[in-house]
Amino acid sequence: MSGRAAAASRAAEEGSHAVGGTVGSLLITGISTLVTNDPQLGEGPLGLITDAAVVVSGEEIAWVGPASRAPAADRMYDADGRALLPGFVDSHAHLVFAGDRTAEFDARMRGLPYTAGGIRTTVAATRAASDEELSAGVARLVGEALRQGTTVIECKSGYGLTVEDEARLLRIAGEHTDEVTYLGAHVVPAEQDPDAYVELVTGAMLDACAPHARWVDVFCERGAFDGDQARAVLESGIKRGLVPRIHANQLTHGPGVQLAVQLGAASADHCTHLTDADVDALASGVTVATLLPGAEFSTRAPYPDARRLLDAGVTVALSTDCNPGSSFTTSMPFCVALAVREMGMTPDEAVGAATLGGARALRRDDVGRIVVGARADLMLLDAPSHVHLAYRPGVPLISAVWQRGRQVVS
Ligand SMILES: [Zn+2]
Repeated sequence: MSGRAAAASRAAEEGSHAVGGTVGSLLITGISTLVTNDPQLGEGPLGLITDAAVVVSGEEIAWVGPASRAPAADRMYDADGRALLPGFVDSHAHLVFAGDRTAEFDARMRGLPYTAGGIRTTVAATRAASDEELSAGVARLVGEALRQGTTVIECKSGYGLTVEDEARLLRIAGEHTDEVTYLGAHVVPAEQDPDAYVELVTGAMLDACAPHARWVDVFCERGAFDGDQARAVLESGIKRGLVPRIHANQLTHGPGVQLAVQLGAASADHCTHLTDADVDALASGVTVATLLPGAEFSTRAPYPDARRLLDAGVTVALSTDCNPGSSFTTSMPFCVALAVREMGMTPDEAVGAATLGGARALRRDDVGRIVVGARADLMLLDAPSHVHLAYRPGVPLISAVWQRGRQVVS
């Protein structure tokens, strides 16, 4: 065991005495690079502080600054020259499902034609699964994400597509996260007329689902829901107190981004095919552009142009789009690496988009930053700098995670 690994292991053991306890304060010191995401606190847009310390009190950050000025605390954790970041905020995931689509991915990678039957396979398997099976599946994926540094994850319905099953999926999602999204308008189910289905999604299904969700979403795409249908879905959700977000411009140029900006949606997700007018609209509105490079990776499709959006002044978030069909990854570090290698983002921009960007896409100011009063969601990298997330792709660099001040990964 290397000196660092031994120290990490000792620190983990020391920390383990405190697992479950958020009483008292914890001083994390010996931080080589601290990413605060507050330019007022440190260098550059990420607010970087070198040789830093952080004090956690209960569930919150109580102090941030140079280690030389750190106050005393009840307990101490030596970061031993490693980098500390806010936990990742994954603002786009589809985690409540059953079934397996390995063969479909394998066929796609062998160049066989893609058939649209995939999502129906998942819907059929999901409808047939028990609540316990579905909840266990979500728990497994949330745990997998947590071990990779994700401390907030959004979760959508969309594989039930009946009144009962969509409400059931939302209730199950709500057992695992506060960020629950009603996506009855994922696709039109095989057995139904599109207009009748939109009526259901904006009527009886919304009635059953609104109490269990914070957000309303729609897949606005050729073959799914057109601009008018997407508007009807989002406006009906808004009337019921849900906040809109949208799957927009993934496979083709479409009306989704413009609709998102007009409705003041929190986020337009995918943004792969954009006109100049779409980019201008995003730059002038309040809507975050959430990019999901796992989807392009897993379907061998062209990546969205993050550079173009950033240069126009658009707020960009990065998320996994974790789902069994087009992006079966929970790894935010993987998305950061893809964004840097394939989408023209700098490592700083990608790390910011995967943390603070995700928080903005979920309209949260209590997560995504390491500032006094924020929720103590932290990840320690087994590396001296956040740049290693892109520089060392595929390497399990997350060596400790705290969520609400409690160490959950060590
Ligand atoms: Zn999605």
